Amino acid sequence: MGASKQYKGKDCAYCGKLGCSSTNDHVIARSFFLDTERGVGLQIPKVAACQRCNNEKSELEGYIGSTLLIGSKHPEANRYRSEKIRPRLDRNQKLRKELNIDSPPVWTEINGLLQPMHAVTVDVDKINRLLQFIVRGLYRHHYHKPLPHDMTPDVSMIRPEAEASMWASVSHFFPPEAPRINCDLGRGSFVYSGVQSPVNEGFTAWTIGLHGQIPLHGQDGSADHWWCMTRPTPEAVAAARSHAGRPYEEK
Ligand SMILES: [Zn+2]
Repeated sequence: MGASKQYKGKDCAYCGKLGCSSTNDHVIARSFFLDTERGVGLQIPKVAACQRCNNEKSELEGYIGSTLLIGSKHPEANRYRSEKIRPRLDRNQKLRKELNIDSPPVWTEINGLLQPMHAVTVDVDKINRLLQFIVRGLYRHHYHKPLPHDMTPDVSMIRPEAEASMWASVSHFFPPEAPRINCDLGRGSFVYSGVQSPVNEGFTAWTIGLHGQIPLHGQDGSADHWWCMTRPTPEAVAAARSHAGRPYEEK
């Protein structure tokens, strides 16, 4: 697959390494969308990426696309499962066994109702890792530069009812007049909002929903989308502390 010149020798949107990009990367994997969505109208953000980041990200995309997206709530979820996921799992019998998807459904309580569910266990670290890549890519695409090197995306699952209080808790960073990004790619396949602090360009907050809000059940309860803030790396916080002799202003 040849990359156009536009994306060669540029700074990698993901690791920030200077002048090392060798390819262009769709920030959200094309395989997360149905082929019919990928026609006219679907504009997936593209960024320059180095080979190393590109490889690591596509491995994560392959894993998430074959596991998490089994729970798709997209209006065309059945088509997605039969056209996208089934062929992938047919080629990867090991993963198919691990996921245990051929076993009967388990009656699971969701919002107080027992429902037959095929629960699939997905590695949360891999989800978080992929979402960190995606947030770095969205940052690069929307704000036209890589995320500053002393900032890092911090991802967590959230419940819909927690979203308002999350926004309220960071409203001092992101006043109502700060411009909001709101995008829906592929009719709910990938929905996100983002906002940047007007005083510190590295501070951004994002909400991300995949495939019509896939129900997630973790140790800390249920969730169906993600919250991400870009914040100073632990090293940056420590450096600022020792430098100034006072705590880094995080609040
Ligand atoms: Zn890179």
